[in-house]
Amino acid sequence: MAKRDFYEILGVNRDASEDEIKKAYRKLAMKHHPDRNPDNPKAEEHFKEAKEAYEILSDGQKRAAYDQYGHAGVDPQAGMGGGFGGGAGGFSDAFGGIFDEIFGGGGARGGRSNIYRGADLRYNLEITLEQAAFGTETKIRIPTMEVCEPCQGSGAKAGTQPKTCPTCQGSGQVRLQQGFFSIQQTCPKCHGTGRFIADPCGSCHGAGRVKQHKTLAVKIPAGVDEGDRIRLSGEGEHGINGGPSGDLYVQIHLKQHAVFQREQNDLHCEMPISFTTAALGGEIEIPTLDAVATIKIPAETQSGKVFRLRGKGIKGVRSHAHGDLLCHVVVETPVHLTERQKELLRELEESSRSEPGRHNPRAKSWMDKVRDFFAS
Ligand SMILES: [Zn+2]
Ligand SMILES: [Zn+2]
Repeated sequence: MAKRDFYEILGVNRDASEDEIKKAYRKLAMKHHPDRNPDNPKAEEHFKEAKEAYEILSDGQKRAAYDQYGHAGVDPQAGMGGGFGGGAGGFSDAFGGIFDEIFGGGGARGGRSNIYRGADLRYNLEITLEQAAFGTETKIRIPTMEVCEPCQGSGAKAGTQPKTCPTCQGSGQVRLQQGFFSIQQTCPKCHGTGRFIADPCGSCHGAGRVKQHKTLAVKIPAGVDEGDRIRLSGEGEHGINGGPSGDLYVQIHLKQHAVFQREQNDLHCEMPISFTTAALGGEIEIPTLDAVATIKIPAETQSGKVFRLRGKGIKGVRSHAHGDLLCHVVVETPVHLTERQKELLRELEESSRSEPGRHNPRAKSWMDKVRDFFAS
């Protein structure tokens, strides 16, 4: 489906001022807020559409990109790895999102009609490669703003009520006369809320909400990878004045593993083998994520050879088959040799020198090339 033009969504001209955009958005957000339209499933769609348009057009940089390139210039999905759990809007790592800015500061409406959805939150969760491969359940502790109990969210001391702001009479705005001009401004006394709390609640200092922590159980599906997100619906910040809660996005990060490096669903590991095993062949036991596998090393194995163990990688969260385990051979030069061992190696060297092209063909061919190069 083609996306609608952001200016069209908000019903403003392309040269609309910041203020006009803000006003247009506020009107739409109020009209289409899902809480006010419980019987109209289309309302949420309109609401989200307006929110997205506003988020772009209210940001000077994003607006410029949109004006120049259209949706392609600002599409948050472009270049992202996807992730499951549904599309995400804008994130807010801290508390408060765009709505705080709009409704909290300079809202033209009185305090009581400020209904809005809580902000989405993001939690970065670090897990081990094994946990990612097999899935896990973990508990996370997240900060949350809860309704202040003593004042039940009003912000006023128990037994008292917030009053209508005497400076703006509850409108949140004041008019200032400057010469011939009359300028409208956010009320300095109530900061646009339209309410005035004479005796603030001691627990929340008038905010109506207090910072607390909650513990959530998170189920991590098997196969998740770096950057995947899991959405916990409704576990974000609480809405204000009955608005719906935001969502919590758990973003997966993988800890570095001592043996394996993950590449999509394949695992890679380095496999050092001794000089003698490389020459004579042998068997090596290597760990896989859930067991031990034996690799037969054929005689005359060289550094850099890769052994692929099919199906011993990870089964991705969106794939049907397991990845592979790839073992990269590194032939180790022996160290800390005794006199006797050195003697044996010299003997070996001596005996192979008679036929270097046969025993060390790569070294021989390289030496020949170098010689030809300097001779020409
Ligand atoms: Zn006021
Ligand atoms: Zn309180």
